[in-house]
Amino acid sequence: MTFRRIAIIGLGLLGGSIGLAIREGLPGARTTGWDRDPEVREAASRRELVHRLAETAEEAVADADLVILCVPVGAMEEAARIIAPALAPGVVVSDVGSSKRSVAEALGRALPGVTVIPAHPVAGTERSGPEAGFAALFRHRWCILTPSDDAPAEKIHALSMFWQALGAKIELMTPAHHDLVLAVTSHIPHLIAYTIVGTASDMEQVTQGEVIKYSAGGFRDFTRIAASDPTMWRDVFLNNRDAVLEMLGRFTEDLTAMQRAIRTGDGDALYRHFERTRAIRRQVIEEGQDDARPDFGRSDH
Ligand code: NAP
Repeated sequence: MTFRRIAIIGLGLLGGSIGLAIREGLPGARTTGWDRDPEVREAASRRELVHRLAETAEEAVADADLVILCVPVGAMEEAARIIAPALAPGVVVSDVGSSKRSVAEALGRALPGVTVIPAHPVAGTERSGPEAGFAALFRHRWCILTPSDDAPAEKIHALSMFWQALGAKIELMTPAHHDLVLAVTSHIPHLIAYTIVGTASDMEQVTQGEVIKYSAGGFRDFTRIAASDPTMWRDVFLNNRDAVLEMLGRFTEDLTAMQRAIRTGDGDALYRHFERTRAIRRQVIEEGQDDARPDFGRSDH
């Protein structure tokens, strides 16, 4: 089984990138798209993110054999309810949401009797919207599928082949495990960045002008992450609450240990810790998940 008619609901960074990547990786497939925002639809049309823009969500999915919901996590259920009556028999509905347990439950509620295979391409940027998408976004990145136990094997295989054609590597997990892994690799790092950038801008002894002027000391790397889309990230924290709170508990304990090492002058503990984290950075580069250049591969002018 191969998907040939693919509907994309939500034409921002993820939806637009999927449309562009399909043009390159699956030239035989036809895409239709819809977004609730008319300005986004107009930009999508100009950038040719999909082959055909539909007037309504129902029209977009009507003859699709694969539908991918690319809307914020908190909007998944509503988007699924709108398309439910228009879905063709045998269709697979998937999504790209950054948390999986609540999305799987929401899609299950909205689409009884439909094959739903949730997915999360672990690829993104701090930019959002229809202008931000690009075809290479998924290349060499992992796409995690979280199928339920009763999802048909041939449909899981077809969705895996689809993502591989877009350049991604596939991993299968339970939704709960996905949410724990992503809490520590993505959600907590974003929370830390949002917090530190907020803290720095609220200080009285150091002016905001100084914070920005001397940001190359490390702060600017947090500002990149903290510039990520507010709607998307609000929904991620509201929908992955349990895993984020569990990992935040662990993080707080470790932060306290660092605080103690600094207070007691335990240089050995600090050195050992930094040595271990440096090795992790090396592994990230060896796995091809980042650029070895000190500026993360961006131009430094
Ligand atoms: P985005 O660029 O903001 O695009 C989302 C689009 O969906 C917006 O145009 C939005 O329109 C539209 N939308 C919202 N509700 C809708 C609805 N009910 N029906 C139709 N369209 C609707 O966001 P994104 O970065 O592509 O993120 C989309 C999904 O991908 C999220 O679930 C996110 O968790 C996941 N994801 C994101 C990243 C990343 O790095 N950005 C990475 C992996 C996965 P409005 O502007 O009018 O709301």
